[in-house]
Amino acid sequence: MTTVAAGRKINWTNTLFIAAAHLVAVGAIVWMATGHFYWQSFVMGLVMLELCSISITAGYHRLFSHRAYKAAPWYRAILLIFGAASVQNSALAWSRDHRRHHTFTDTDLDPYNAKEGFWWSHVLWVLHDAPEDHVAKGPRVTDLEDDPLVRFQHKYYVPIAILFAAVIPMCLGFLWGDPIGALLICGFLRLVVQWHMTFTINSLAHMVGTQPYSTRNTSRDSGLIAFVSWGEGYHNFHHRFQADYRNGVRWWQFDPTKWMLWTLQWVKVVSDLRRTPDATIQRALANPRHADDAPRESAPTADAVGVPVAASAD
Ligand SMILES: [Zn+2]
Ligand SMILES: [Zn+2]
Repeated sequence: MTTVAAGRKINWTNTLFIAAAHLVAVGAIVWMATGHFYWQSFVMGLVMLELCSISITAGYHRLFSHRAYKAAPWYRAILLIFGAASVQNSALAWSRDHRRHHTFTDTDLDPYNAKEGFWWSHVLWVLHDAPEDHVAKGPRVTDLEDDPLVRFQHKYYVPIAILFAAVIPMCLGFLWGDPIGALLICGFLRLVVQWHMTFTINSLAHMVGTQPYSTRNTSRDSGLIAFVSWGEGYHNFHHRFQADYRNGVRWWQFDPTKWMLWTLQWVKVVSDLRRTPDATIQRALANPRHADDAPRESAPTADAVGVPVAASAD
């Protein structure tokens, strides 16, 4: 038990659901290994993993939390649907936590403070309720509260999640005679795999890798972690330039979320992709310690997240 966990109440809903989902995910593997393998269910699980993962990286993270670009309403609606099916809370609640992470990185007010160790930042923080005053001290999310699509998803998050993560996959499974397998694979095995992909950003991306852009917090760049997280592993760059639509800033760095957004701008689905000027990036590379006269690119400003924020720990 970490020190921070000792003072907090356990969130039993999250704890029991996450524990049960892991057991059922193991059941999904046993189900497939004992003569119930249907390639259609497996492929649907992979497609679902891709849709849900991209909804977190391109949607919850870069669009809703950081306002790194603008997007058409139908595209935002799809991200909100599969974001809900990712069972990581509503976009509003997720972004509120994430803005707090950037504003108060590595402090007690950071919901997944990496200095509390791997297990706290990976999953234990989800199993505990955050103190009310911590949430109140965080950056505002009025821009999201004013968005009708985000508000709708926040209000109906649970039914949307059940419908798209469980009911629809199960119905599709009937088409090839494997409704139980479709539910186990799409609803649970996919969910558990995806959780750990996301959780890795909060844990390992603050522990493994290099710090070329900033040594002022624990965030790190790692191509390996980028590979298992749809490009989010270039986390040191991201912490310094959080409003940039790219996490892997070099064209060759593995960041499928960046490549997708870059492609979608050509067909006018997304627009106003925000890029940090090269000269600013070079200044950061030359001075990762942020001397006093260096620009504070990593601080979450009103411009970076679309709203005024309370304070910065960086
Ligand atoms: Zn971080
Ligand atoms: Zn972020």
